[in-house]
Amino acid sequence: MWNKAAIAKTTWDLAHKQDKLWIRWINTYYIKANTIESAPIPAQASWMIRKIIAARNTMEHTQTKHLRTVSIKAIYQKLLGDSLRVNWKCLMFANNARPRARFTMWLQLQKRLQTTDRLQDWGMDVDQSCKLCKRQKESRDHIYVQCLFTQHVWERIMKWLTWQWSSTTTWVDHLSWCIIRAKGKSLNAQIFKMVYAELVYGIWIERNRRIFENKGRQSEEIGKEIDFTCNVRAPLRIKAKLQQLLF
Ligand SMILES: [Zn+2]
Repeated sequence: MWNKAAIAKTTWDLAHKQDKLWIRWINTYYIKANTIESAPIPAQASWMIRKIIAARNTMEHTQTKHLRTVSIKAIYQKLLGDSLRVNWKCLMFANNARPRARFTMWLQLQKRLQTTDRLQDWGMDVDQSCKLCKRQKESRDHIYVQCLFTQHVWERIMKWLTWQWSSTTTWVDHLSWCIIRAKGKSLNAQIFKMVYAELVYGIWIERNRRIFENKGRQSEEIGKEIDFTCNVRAPLRIKAKLQQLLF
């Protein structure tokens, strides 16, 4: 995927007529009076030239065409983001969490929870601070990745499950961390996705309570509730394993 991004970066250079000798050369010999978007892919050109021109689709897809500068890394992360969006289906599949928790997680994964940054984008005048940590602006990525309150809940949950936990700072890293744990049919993968959905739901409900009911709970209580719900919901095989663990 890094190669794909590197080729797309060259295509971007071409489209923006970046002043590099060989970019000028491709423009003169292959693009001629056309633009990169409309130039035919020359059959007689080397495979590399054809690949570079064909990568206009990647440029289009990653919406980098109109940017004034772009790096290989930026294109790479957009491509990675796309593949993760498809991969998160393993979190949804055969998940034993409550339907309302699975639904909230489904919205969260698609960035469709109505966080205040989105409300602001729609022109609504709302208090944008995160009600969980009261330190940063609220967004999906903040609430679920960077927020210290959520991190405390995670730490507590991972201690209960006796699993290693390392915090991540970006949504992309967080999601790939989740996908690695939710993939496959192992007992741990099944536990992870159920716990994840219940955690996403627990955090969202806590956030709503603080906003609409002016009530708040500690991260410890939320962790305990997730433990309880998972113990109740788990099928027998998972239940046996969960019951060996003490919260
Ligand atoms: Zn926060």
